[in-house]
Amino acid sequence: MASHKILLTEDEMPRQWYNILADIKMNPPLGPDGNPVSPDQLAPVFPMNLIEQEVSQERWIDIPQEVMDIYTLWRPSPLVRATRLEKALGTPARIYFKNEGVSPAGSHKPNTAVPQAYYNKEFGIKKITTETGAGQWGSALSFACAQFGLQCTVYMVRISFDQKPYRKSMMGVWGGKCIASPSTLTKAGRDALERDPNTPGSLGIAISEAVEAAVSDETGETRYSLGSVLNHVMLHQTVIGLEAKKQLEKVGEYPDIVIGCAGGGSNFAGLAFPFAQDKINGKQLEIYPVEPAACPTLTKAPFVYDHGDVAGYTPLLPMHSLGHAFVPAPIHAGGLRYHGMAPTVSQLVDEGLMDAKSVNQLDCYEAGLIFARSEGHIPAPETTHAIAQVIKEANKAKEEGKEKVILFNWSGHGALDLGAYEKYLAGELHNFELTDAEMNEAMEIFKNYPKPEHLKSR
Ligand SMILES: *Cc1c(COP(=O)(O)O)cnc(C)c1O
Repeated sequence: MASHKILLTEDEMPRQWYNILADIKMNPPLGPDGNPVSPDQLAPVFPMNLIEQEVSQERWIDIPQEVMDIYTLWRPSPLVRATRLEKALGTPARIYFKNEGVSPAGSHKPNTAVPQAYYNKEFGIKKITTETGAGQWGSALSFACAQFGLQCTVYMVRISFDQKPYRKSMMGVWGGKCIASPSTLTKAGRDALERDPNTPGSLGIAISEAVEAAVSDETGETRYSLGSVLNHVMLHQTVIGLEAKKQLEKVGEYPDIVIGCAGGGSNFAGLAFPFAQDKINGKQLEIYPVEPAACPTLTKAPFVYDHGDVAGYTPLLPMHSLGHAFVPAPIHAGGLRYHGMAPTVSQLVDEGLMDAKSVNQLDCYEAGLIFARSEGHIPAPETTHAIAQVIKEANKAKEEGKEKVILFNWSGHGALDLGAYEKYLAGELHNFELTDAEMNEAMEIFKNYPKPEHLKSR
């Protein structure tokens, strides 16, 4: 009998993360004066050991033993051959998924929350502030802070705060404090409420609030933490792809197509970057980040310099962006409602090493049901974006009669998103697609911004 799960022992876990900055060219982040930011300028926001990691050019970075110990609470995660999904689709493709839903928080996010809490603790920090969309990151960071005895304050995007009450409860269980954003506690929040008292909120606004709360703490013992987008977050997540590579080797496979859903880009990058390294070195494979049609950062928005947050507190990052003032439609995949995209992922897409796809909300829930009814596990709404693309590729393989190997990241489970599934089953959800007029309006913001160069890494 062919086995479903391909497992690694704890001894076989990767001991180092893969840093793609060693293998690609990047535009630098820019400060308010238009010059590249120096590490010192970031010091009020992040601890210096993480800033060093953010700019490191070392290809391999050791995973600290304390982090390895906590990783083994759920890692190595299983790689699963989705034979029942293959059968349901009648495809000759072989489909594998990396199950990141087995972590305490139920997603890939603890892979970076744990090292971030560790490095903050090492640096003498007592309290961490952050933002959260669907609540996945806030809960992951609350879990990680509990492991290291740190305080955690989470600004949660208002629409998710109302739609997903149980993630708040998870944060509370792990000792985190959760605040609906925009709030009246920060200037950025008060400004956002003045512009629109009924705003559903956005990740961009919540980031502004969390950064402001960190840098305005006069004790100097608070720092801010970001759950996606930045280089060090992508770095930590590569443990996913490095494990997956070993697991596929065990069964003599290598993917033709690698797929992940992309909000800020971290779960996708975590799976894809170790394979992107092979592609940079000449290997043939397709790599697809998948995003919602309602927030088409990679597929429609240009490669620009933009702020990571609404108030413009962060440096200008070279990325695909819909503009930091963009407030996406209230789709249920809250984790995919970010206006920008990781600079590393943006760079790889700009160079043509990855090919971005977009899918609409109803196709995603349909894909989620096909998956749950065949493989059993209920995927997070974010994860269904990857599954929708996997199903398209599996159907294409069927039409072409090709035995493609498809690998995707199952970024998290949907057990706390059942309200969204219930609405889908009741026929209450619909598609949102960004129109050209909305797109043009959003682009106005970039009129006087510097432009990144189109660099080539190979
Ligand atoms: C947060 C989240 C995402 C989106 O964030 P990325 O940084 O793009 O990975 C996707 N899936 C799940 C389950 C999440 O919690």
